[in-house]
Amino acid sequence: MRLLTIGAFAKASRLSPKALRLYDELGLLRPAVVDPVTGYRRYAPDQLDRARLVGWLRRLGMPLARVQHVCALADTEADAQTEAEAAGAGLAGAGPGPAGAGPAETAAQAVRAYWAQVEAETAARRDLATFLVDHLTWKDPTLSSTTQPLRIRSAALSDTGLVRESNQDTAYAGARLLAVADGFGPAGGAVSAAAVDSLKRLETPEALEALETKQLLDALEESIESTRQAVRDAAAGATAANHAGTTLTAMFWTGSQLALVHIGDSRASLLRDGEFFQITHDHTVVQSLLDEGRITPEEASSHPQPLLLQRALTAGSDTALDVRLHDVRPGDRYLLCSDGLSTVVPSEEVRRVVATVDDPEEAVRELVALADALGGPDNVSCVIADVVG
Ligand code: MG
Repeated sequence: MRLLTIGAFAKASRLSPKALRLYDELGLLRPAVVDPVTGYRRYAPDQLDRARLVGWLRRLGMPLARVQHVCALADTEADAQTEAEAAGAGLAGAGPGPAGAGPAETAAQAVRAYWAQVEAETAARRDLATFLVDHLTWKDPTLSSTTQPLRIRSAALSDTGLVRESNQDTAYAGARLLAVADGFGPAGGAVSAAAVDSLKRLETPEALEALETKQLLDALEESIESTRQAVRDAAAGATAANHAGTTLTAMFWTGSQLALVHIGDSRASLLRDGEFFQITHDHTVVQSLLDEGRITPEEASSHPQPLLLQRALTAGSDTALDVRLHDVRPGDRYLLCSDGLSTVVPSEEVRRVVATVDDPEEAVRELVALADALGGPDNVSCVIADVVG
């Protein structure tokens, strides 16, 4: 077999000689022969497939360690195929068995998982970019007298349900603040109440006055700090083994801007122009497996621990909350709810009530009744808020 010089191999594979030397050092693509005297590298023509695979994965932006992993999986696949061919040589009509199909799928799955992760990260960065654009173009509403002031018409309801002994949820709808928190652990009820109570300070005249000179983002960051402290205080009695914490999904309305603060698996959804969609991202283990492409939506719906939280406000951790501004339009209707609604009542039923029951008080009552009619297995909390011009 005629070997190629590194220059000829670089040209054929469209990788630079510098990259080829690096891939050799990393063991990613070893030359067929290295001259012991001159150190010249020579490559076999059948190494071009590997070189192209490495080049493509690098063009995806995949880090070298991960490229190495995919190549190792592809090697396992090639080995398994060779073995299967050797073993099946005498068996007429023997198709590719599961042993041959597995590793091939594993290499493909590794690329799929990587790409799903890139897309999830890009989505998170897009949210952050949107937030920053809003943040940097923020205008004092009092200066733009032409825009009609909007206000919020809202209602909240929290219910123990039919199975739990106590209600650890907290729901609140004030003039400026809307919040749902779902506490867990022995002090869960106190913790969820403390988190929401702490945010209520944003509604005080002093806090609203301070917003005239302060950016909303800064006000929220300060408020989240005091919320963390409130959670630590409320959970003080809980032991590490059964520590208490809470989810928190809250919206704060300044009169011109709506800020969203979120952690955990309570949800905020929006009904706009007849479309009803979730505007928060669940911080559950299942959702993150889905985001990474490790499980399919079908597998997610039958996961044994669908409610396992990945992020929550707890006494022991400083996990980040999602904080962003949300663009508001007159006619928008928001639903905040705990998982006692979203995991119990089918989404079409929730949508039907949100879209057809005009009065917020009546709508939250109907939603809670739907959960109770389905056995009320969990505490259930809802907040409905209409933006009126
Ligand atoms: Mg719950």
